[in-house]
Amino acid sequence: MIPRERILSVLSKYDESDVKIGTICSHSSLQIFNGARREGLRSVGIVLRENKPYYESFPRASPDIFIEVDSYGDLLSEETQEELISENVIMIPHGSFVEYVGSENILERFGVPMFGNRLTLYWEGDRRRQRKWLEDAGVPTPRIYRSPEDIDRPVIVKLHGAKGGKGYFKASSPEEFYEKFSELKERGLVGSLEDVVIEEFIVGVRFYPHFFFSPIESENIADLEGGRLELLGIDRRLEVIDEIHRGLPDLMEDFMDYTVTGNIPVIVREKYLVDLLRDAVKIISSSRRLFYPGLIGPFCMEMIYNPSRGFITFEVSTRIVAGTNLYTDGSPYSYYYYDEPMSMGRRIAREIKEAVKSGSLHKIIY
Ligand code: ATP
Repeated sequence: MIPRERILSVLSKYDESDVKIGTICSHSSLQIFNGARREGLRSVGIVLRENKPYYESFPRASPDIFIEVDSYGDLLSEETQEELISENVIMIPHGSFVEYVGSENILERFGVPMFGNRLTLYWEGDRRRQRKWLEDAGVPTPRIYRSPEDIDRPVIVKLHGAKGGKGYFKASSPEEFYEKFSELKERGLVGSLEDVVIEEFIVGVRFYPHFFFSPIESENIADLEGGRLELLGIDRRLEVIDEIHRGLPDLMEDFMDYTVTGNIPVIVREKYLVDLLRDAVKIISSSRRLFYPGLIGPFCMEMIYNPSRGFITFEVSTRIVAGTNLYTDGSPYSYYYYDEPMSMGRRIAREIKEAVKSGSLHKIIY
């Protein structure tokens, strides 16, 4: 793993008066580049050669400079990394960036300063490690079953490294599990039991709150013990199963699919607001204990509200998530912090700008 000192040494040679925001051109990059523009920062977009005309077509969300590549793997080449460093680029990780480049490659081979703490990639990327983090934080989580034989209630079976719920299935008994698992095995999607996580199926309403944590701003919640936590929006993911009613009166099997295809905005009933913030504080405190300096910047908690058990967190995404693209002009929550449209992309640019101003850029980079 590239040590933080080495990244900070690269950063120390940056011309801070010309810091640029960089990322891979994707859906979320539009918000990131737009946010940089709004904050008066220049930006660099790494784009697949054939995609450039499309990302160039958004006048208020295209980067100032394009770096064209033939594959995202090129981002790991010495030449591209040197180019990014010579442009004083701070990379913003988003879902596609992590997916295309790979968290291990980022940790081991990507020497460009990144916004946030790259150790979160290590803690988030592996379901078992992430579970340790959630348990350390003390937020309620779904029960995990070590063996299919123990299945005594409905479970959701998750494939390791699955993207957005693809291939997940539900089972209510060991027999049903094995039947469905064999089907996946025949299709070559899984090899052994090691390839899946069996998790208690939580009945309830899903919420995906988007948070931003700044370690350089003054404390706004005492339990944080430093730093500022903002709730900048909430979404709900649109999954195939959400449309199951369209198959009525029969329940068509193909609708039993958890693949995430889009996002819709949502707010919580007011009595739940404190629950969300309280759990987010716990996640931050635990991240400091487990991987100092802990979480920095955007993160999303993936939660289900169950009427008798309250909010149960089944995952944390430690980066700007697709759901924030709903709020490019601010959200019903962002206006309680900012008297101007504040998207997550803009909030990232604001943090970098403020850090430069106060000489604390090194505190938010790894
Ligand atoms: P991403 O990495 O994009 O967050 P993923 O592949 O990790 O996606 P999840 O977000 O974990 O997928 O899950 C996809 C969907 O499966 C959820 O949005 C939710 O609808 C459902 N789901 C996940 N865990 C549970 C659970 N414990 N109980 C009920 N439903 C669940």
